[in-house]
Amino acid sequence: MITTALTGATIFDGHRLYKNHALLIANEHISAICDISSLPADLNPVALTGGLLAPGLIDLQVNGGGGVLFNDNPTIDGIRSICQAHAAFGTTSLMPTLITASPVVTEQAINAAIEAYQSKLAGFLGLHLEGPHLSVKKKGAHDASLIRPMSDDDLHCYINARNQLPCLMITVAPESVTEQQINALSEAGITISLGHSNASYEQCFSAFTAGATCATHLYNAMSPLTHREPGLVGAALAHNKNYCGLIADGHHVHPAAIRHALAAKQKGNPIFLVSDAMPPIGTNIDSFELDGRTVFRDGGRLVLSDGTLAGADISLLDATRYMVTTCELDIDEALRMATVYPASCIGHEQIKGTLEPEHSANIVHLDDDFGLQQVWRDGLPLLPG
Ligand SMILES: [Zn+2]
Repeated sequence: MITTALTGATIFDGHRLYKNHALLIANEHISAICDISSLPADLNPVALTGGLLAPGLIDLQVNGGGGVLFNDNPTIDGIRSICQAHAAFGTTSLMPTLITASPVVTEQAINAAIEAYQSKLAGFLGLHLEGPHLSVKKKGAHDASLIRPMSDDDLHCYINARNQLPCLMITVAPESVTEQQINALSEAGITISLGHSNASYEQCFSAFTAGATCATHLYNAMSPLTHREPGLVGAALAHNKNYCGLIADGHHVHPAAIRHALAAKQKGNPIFLVSDAMPPIGTNIDSFELDGRTVFRDGGRLVLSDGTLAGADISLLDATRYMVTTCELDIDEALRMATVYPASCIGHEQIKGTLEPEHSANIVHLDDDFGLQQVWRDGLPLLPG
């Protein structure tokens, strides 16, 4: 086995920084972080000139990329294109995310995800179904005519899908599912995330207690925190056993609201970043179709003709950079929000999200200005260089 040694950069393994160390990769896994004064002799050295090596980024909410919308291409080829587009921006693992769709399209998406898993498609992490069991009152860009309560058939379909996937995340509104359903899905190993909901604080808190473990894009498309009715925002921040996804693109959430959320969450139940990316990422296109409606690219935003935000126009690395530059978060904690925390949200903390031995060799090399220099996915460098 040939071991590659990446030298010359500071290493952040997800926990702490290492200087004067080398990151060793054996095939598709991390093998060690080693002091350069005690490196083994038989290595393939790769000398880097400064910068930071960090875990590859993990995105749990990706609607599209590379010109592809998953809803329009619920196939393994669609998933491959999306994974390739995001890998070029340092996202080495992602969950293709289906926006509320018909039962037929949902079934196609599940089958495509199972096929991607069985063929070990690089970058594919699992499937996120965002809907259709949401609240019409907080539909955002989702098609209201396709939003519906969860049936027993739906429940069995999801549990069956989970048994054939490495992970499955479903965004639901407490108004459209029962606590028994949340409990059954959670018991089956499905990550239940609350979102697109207008439910009360009590209703949301009960749904977390019943087994929901996450909130989808905190603040956006959910009942807000007000002084007498703290809503889903208040429940998500108050409950002590859940994660929150966050879109940090400078448009979806005010930086002061981000700082409040970070201050409110207890350690161990953190907030992680998502891109909520759409087809434009990695392309020059300036509009695309969503359920027959045109979404326009507008100065860093994606909007329907009525101004409703329809996903985001950022990569996960952009969001990470935003947390450092605008929200004044330490680089190491900002990186955890895009690596360690999403991995632990879906129970993959033992295999992804850090540069610990046996983890996938998914790595980004950043320069001192947070610019992306190189990406390794499963040990293979992806960018020309
Ligand atoms: Zn959404």
